[in-house]
Amino acid sequence: MTAPDAREVWFLTGSQGLYGEATLRQVAAQSQQIARALEDSADIAVRVVWKPVLTDSAAIRRVCLDASATDSCVGVIAWMHTFSPAKMWISGLDALRRPLLHLHTQAHVELPWSSLDMDFMNLNQAAHGDREFGYIQSRLGVPRKTVAGHVSDPQVTARIGSWARAAAGSAALRELRLARFGDNMREVAVTEGDKVEAQLRFGVAVNTYGVNDLVEVVDATADAAVTDLVKEYEDTYRIAPELRTGAARHDALRYAARIELGLRAFLSEGGFHAFTTNFEDLGGLRQLPGLAVQRLMADGYGFGGEGDWKTSALLRAMKVMAAGLPGGTSFMEDYTYDLTRGQELILGAHMLEVCPSVAAATPSCEIHPLGMGGREDPVRLVFDARPGPAVVAGLADMGDRFRLVANEIDVVEPVEPLPRLPVARAVWRPLPNLRTSAEAWLTAGAPHHTVLSSAIGTEELTDFAEMAGTELLTIDTATTMRQFTKEIRWNQAYHRLAQGF
Ligand code: MN
Repeated sequence: MTAPDAREVWFLTGSQGLYGEATLRQVAAQSQQIARALEDSADIAVRVVWKPVLTDSAAIRRVCLDASATDSCVGVIAWMHTFSPAKMWISGLDALRRPLLHLHTQAHVELPWSSLDMDFMNLNQAAHGDREFGYIQSRLGVPRKTVAGHVSDPQVTARIGSWARAAAGSAALRELRLARFGDNMREVAVTEGDKVEAQLRFGVAVNTYGVNDLVEVVDATADAAVTDLVKEYEDTYRIAPELRTGAARHDALRYAARIELGLRAFLSEGGFHAFTTNFEDLGGLRQLPGLAVQRLMADGYGFGGEGDWKTSALLRAMKVMAAGLPGGTSFMEDYTYDLTRGQELILGAHMLEVCPSVAAATPSCEIHPLGMGGREDPVRLVFDARPGPAVVAGLADMGDRFRLVANEIDVVEPVEPLPRLPVARAVWRPLPNLRTSAEAWLTAGAPHHTVLSSAIGTEELTDFAEMAGTELLTIDTATTMRQFTKEIRWNQAYHRLAQGF
């Protein structure tokens, strides 16, 4: 997958010619220091590329056009070191087609009180230079994230880092090709959606392929490659005795490996980084893909079950945002509750397809019957998700727009072992509590399929929603139903007005 460190953001510094060459040299030196501090920060996974100080409208427009035309550039950070009269920024901001972060900072931390003179004041005037820039951005309606503080403050670099990850995910989504094997599960509403609008809004190209096109590739896979991959499984997972070499059901494990190799070949050949399957449409596949889907997700592919391309695309974007971070990111589905009063929990799982990046321990590779799909028993990885803070996010098509809903959660260990549950699962306590979380989620009309991530959180999703111009509703420790219900109504009005006519 494309790691965020293969991407860059450009660091733009605003000033003007009024101050003279000597001052502008100081501005350049100090802005290079700031850019260097960001580049060196472990919080920021993308490269930070410093650009020469901007003092007139032609140069500003040129750098905004260049940033917009540079594939590796996923976003632009702007800082007005001095005073940069903002009419100079109008044509540049109008031309900019990249996410923008307004960094409101200054070179120094403490004021040199005893030596403070007008030279110092003239050099270090971001406090009002950035207010001028804030005005023009708001006047033009430019979406952006504003971060205030010194770059030595870890909160500042962390928040810029989240924005940069969101920008990398947004860029990946813009170039994403998604393959659907079959259509949506019949009669299901929430997995449907407007693929043309999705391509306009997010960039993702969603197209369907006959599942038997995949079957051809699966069937044509060489036996030797299957043998090698089975060996890798044996080295990586705890393999159920009946699946081991020479055991009664070893052939099923070989067929699962064959599906993985076929899927990888098909996706790689077509330049796809996300896909969907549908158990109602398996063509000549002998098993519903389980193990293969789980391993492809672990490698950064987006996936959605039952033809759910929206969740697949969201998963791919969140995988890119999360690249290199501890924690995992997976396709997920709210399944069943423990309603023990005061200790309410959600148990999430799917028929087969949970990503082993969220596993607490080495997964167990097993085979069990599956009621749905009417094929042979599928091979799958079984595990519990690692405890810790996480987020679940879901994307719904409300007809006139997409709505993203995120819930902050705490993944916990299952209260008791689950020896008879033959699928991977996560157990979590949603914030602020199950009742408010579930009532808010249902009132928002948010989907049953989600992406669960313990690697990224609501900060990245908030920045991503801003970049995509998409509604985001967040359910967290501060959520009350009274407020949330109003937010939904206000959002409804806002997003309809914001669309124009
Ligand atoms: Mn499902």
